[in-house]
Amino acid sequence: MSTQTLEKTTARKIERTFKAMPTSDGAGVKLNRVIGRAGLPDLDPFLLLDEFRSEDGADYIAGFPDHPHRGFETVTYMLAGRMRHGDNKGNVGLLGPGSVQWMTAGRGIVHSEMPEQEDGLMQGFQLWVNLPAKDKMTEPRYQDIDPRDIPTLDLAGGVKVKVIAGDVNGTKGAVDTGVTEPTYLDVVLPAGQSFAHPVKLGHNAFVYVYDGSVAVGDQTLVKTELGVLGEGDNVEVVAGDAGAKVLIVAGKPLGEPVARHGPFVMNTMAEIRQAAEDYLAGKF
Ligand code: MN
Repeated sequence: MSTQTLEKTTARKIERTFKAMPTSDGAGVKLNRVIGRAGLPDLDPFLLLDEFRSEDGADYIAGFPDHPHRGFETVTYMLAGRMRHGDNKGNVGLLGPGSVQWMTAGRGIVHSEMPEQEDGLMQGFQLWVNLPAKDKMTEPRYQDIDPRDIPTLDLAGGVKVKVIAGDVNGTKGAVDTGVTEPTYLDVVLPAGQSFAHPVKLGHNAFVYVYDGSVAVGDQTLVKTELGVLGEGDNVEVVAGDAGAKVLIVAGKPLGEPVARHGPFVMNTMAEIRQAAEDYLAGKF
C-alpha cells in the first residue's frame, strides 16, 4: 500500500488501555490475563487473551490437565518452550516455539495442555475467538501450524511480521478462518520503525505490547498493555526507543448474546446448562 493511499484513510486511535492482570488458571499456572477480566470481559468476537511468560518452572509445571471446551475457538501461539496437547479423541501434538494451534472446540472437546519441560522460558499466548450461534455445535477441528508454515514478511526498516491469520499486502495467514474473519499478526519492530495495516471498518481491533513500547497516534502503549482501537480503516504502530514486539488482532463482531461459564461459551444460559450436562454425561 502506498503512502498516498494511507494518507486518505482514517487511522484508528486508542480508545481504552488495559494493563494485563496477573492471575492463575488450570492447575495453578501463573499468567497475565488481558481480555476476559474485570473491565474488559470480552471484545467481540474475542473472549479471552492470556499471556504466559516465565522462566520459573514452578509457575507453569502444573499445566492445564483435562478440561472441556464448547462453543468457541482457542488459539495457542507459542514463542518459547514446549506444550504437549492431548484430547479425548486421541489427538496428540507437541506445540514448540513459533507454532500455532487453532482449535475449533465446536460442540465439545476435553483436552489437556501440559508443559513438556520442567524449567526454562515458557512464553506464549492463548486467544479465545467466539463462534457464531450457527457454528457453536460444529464438529471439533484442529489446525496445527508448524512455525515454517507461518508466512513471515521482512519489511523495510527491519520490521518483521508473522501472519498467523489475515492478509498483509496479499500474503495470507496460515489459518483457515470462519465468519469472524480474524486477523492475527505478530509484529517485531526495531526502534523508531513503523508498521501500518488496513483494518476493516466495523471490525473490533486491539494492539497488545509484549516487549518494548509503541505509539499509536499520540498515545503510547508499554509492555503488557493492550490498547482497544477506535473506528477507522487502518492502524499504525511506531516503535519506541527500545523497539517493540506487538500483537495486532482484529475481527468481525458477532453481535450475538454471550452466555459464558468457565470453559463453555454459548448464547443462552440454557445452552450453558446443557453443555455442563453433556460434559458430565460424557457426551463430549
Ligand atoms: Mn483448553
